[in-house]
Amino acid sequence: MKIENHLLAGEKIDFKKSPNKSGKFKSGLPDTIVIHYTAGSSRESSVNTLTSPGSKASAHIVIGRDGKITQLVPFDTIAWHAGNSSYKGRVGLNNYSIGIEIDNAGILKKSGNSYTAWFGRVYNEADVMEGIHRNRNTPNYWHRFTEWQIEICKEICQLLIDKYGIKTIVGHEEISPIRKIDPGPAFPLDKFREQIFESARDTDSEEEPVHKTTGEVAATSLNIRVAPDTEAEKAAQPLPKGTKVEILEESDGWVKVRTQIDGWVFAKHIK
Ligand SMILES: [Zn+2]
Repeated sequence: MKIENHLLAGEKIDFKKSPNKSGKFKSGLPDTIVIHYTAGSSRESSVNTLTSPGSKASAHIVIGRDGKITQLVPFDTIAWHAGNSSYKGRVGLNNYSIGIEIDNAGILKKSGNSYTAWFGRVYNEADVMEGIHRNRNTPNYWHRFTEWQIEICKEICQLLIDKYGIKTIVGHEEISPIRKIDPGPAFPLDKFREQIFESARDTDSEEEPVHKTTGEVAATSLNIRVAPDTEAEKAAQPLPKGTKVEILEESDGWVKVRTQIDGWVFAKHIK
């Protein structure tokens, strides 16, 4: 999977253009991803709603439970998924963010042993979890996401981070906490973003060049000082010939070395 011309490209990805969009993002944007659930009965029904002019709603992509993804708006264009929203001093998050909708029935009502969605479909216990929403105090029943949905969503977020420099991933429930409860506690949002940004940081640090070289004291006895200066205090007893050192940095004929301690020695006496 990759992003080409602001569209996801790969297997089982299709594009169905939504008229519900504004212009292009301003430069430096988008820098945020907003995660939603559709509260719908299928990917197709949600795609139909989000591409019909009357709904005045859209998203960039919809991740189905059927292993398929539909993109509705290119990633460089503003979609209409967040509505009235605010986060960290910004209002109207549509102008800053990519919207990812995940096919999920949302909150369910329990009666006896069955769990019913607002649109009437009944779900098995295996597809249901009980959890307390971050904006509430008492538990409710929620439609589970499939493992594939969470994994593919993570992959897509990683692609978007690489391509657009996304800095923040939030749930709709965090930017519109009075109106919205998606994606809800069935989506492991805190762990999800922690893992994504941790792995992004690991990749960054791997890219930094590591200059790690070693050497050996060539003089019979070599003074080691706290600074690269013959007037500087000695850091320890002189290093005997043959002492193995790690070279940390260089400055004007001196090198900073590490043995049991760190200190500066004349570069010419290290081979
Ligand atoms: Zn939403």
